[in-house]
Amino acid sequence: MNTSKSEELYKIALDLMPGGVNSPVRAFGSVGRKPLFIDHAKGSYIYDVDGNEYIDYVCSWGPGILGHAHPEVLEAVIKACFDGLTFGAPTGKESTLAAMIRDCVPSMEMVRMVNSGTEATMSAIRAARGYTGRDKIIKFKGCYHGHSDGLLVQAGSAALTQSVPDSSGVPASFAKQTLVALYNDKDSVRELFENNKDQIAALIVEPVAANMGVVLPEEGFLRFLRDITAENGTVLIFDEVITGFRLGIGGAQQWYGIKPDMTTLGKIVGGGMPMAVYGGKREIMQNVAPTGKVYQAGTLAGNPVAVTAGIRTLELLQEDPGIYDRMEKNTRKLADAYKKRAERLGVSMHVNQIGSLMCAFFTDRKVTDYAGATSSDTDAYAKYFNEMLESGIYVAPSQFEAMFISGAHSEEDINRTIEVLLK
Ligand SMILES: *Cc1c(COP(=O)(O)O)cnc(C)c1O
Repeated sequence: MNTSKSEELYKIALDLMPGGVNSPVRAFGSVGRKPLFIDHAKGSYIYDVDGNEYIDYVCSWGPGILGHAHPEVLEAVIKACFDGLTFGAPTGKESTLAAMIRDCVPSMEMVRMVNSGTEATMSAIRAARGYTGRDKIIKFKGCYHGHSDGLLVQAGSAALTQSVPDSSGVPASFAKQTLVALYNDKDSVRELFENNKDQIAALIVEPVAANMGVVLPEEGFLRFLRDITAENGTVLIFDEVITGFRLGIGGAQQWYGIKPDMTTLGKIVGGGMPMAVYGGKREIMQNVAPTGKVYQAGTLAGNPVAVTAGIRTLELLQEDPGIYDRMEKNTRKLADAYKKRAERLGVSMHVNQIGSLMCAFFTDRKVTDYAGATSSDTDAYAKYFNEMLESGIYVAPSQFEAMFISGAHSEEDINRTIEVLLK
């Protein structure tokens, strides 16, 4: 595999940007090779600058549910571009999208559009704090909600009592406002509520955790979170930046039949353009400026081009009622192939799959939490990643990322991938 042009571009980029990239995981650090520089992508395929082609199971980390460069999304976007790239003033399209979101995700009675998932979660938490008049929040170890200060926090050595920053540059005093519970561990949540009576503004969770690999909520876990937050007057926030429009048009909340107070969306909602959304109950969202005192704003928020891409993407998802079943069927088929591969090679593997999300963990443990996920053999994962890449299959360059299957992945794509897995 010739990667000389990628290597040349990497050398130039290294001098100009930290690690040569604009988001850390792109640097391929955990798979021990230099990053590929991309030339273009189309459908289920991505092409690097050296002309190598790959079946793409990263899908830009989630947004690419229709595959790359979908002609109808492109057509709508190009048309919108000619009308102007940004106005800094309202457009009718924003209401069109907001209404579509509410139709798909009825708990999002009102929404605010922002530019990234990070902004959406950060702003949702601010709204919840403004609404409750409380400061503390609960998050789960291994759940990722973007890189705002209060969410880059881990449990300290004193287990569940003292939180510490998970990044240099985050003040310890900020981290103290974030309590860290364990995913799928009800007791850890109960304990935090008991020790912080009437102080917890919000509990934020990925209803299906998809940033420590893919970890499914155990039976009753989300219902438990709904009940305990309601009992304590705490705002329940589902971070559906990955699961929104991925696990069906209504996201994880529809899949599991649990209605959160607030929801964050990103990735798919922008149709490949930078956009994200937070929203929820009207009485909470009315606290956001200018109607309320929770300040939040954005020069490019509700950008007309991004909103257009979002609208067209949601329309296409709704116009193709078979798409979710098709994606799931393909994903199941892949999941089975991973299990077969593990048997054939005599290695330990645990595969988690839901809808078009999956993750093959290189471990002998059943993965239901952070400890299970991190018991994986990351060296073995790196070896597998490189083997796949050399065979024209691009999977996530980290054990702790999801594998995304899109509507553009054909049966032939899946079969070719299975051939590589089982060869
Ligand atoms: C990607 C992601 C975010 C952050 O979104 P960005 O657009 O990268 O800032 C937040 N929450 C979840 C669940 C995500 O997967």
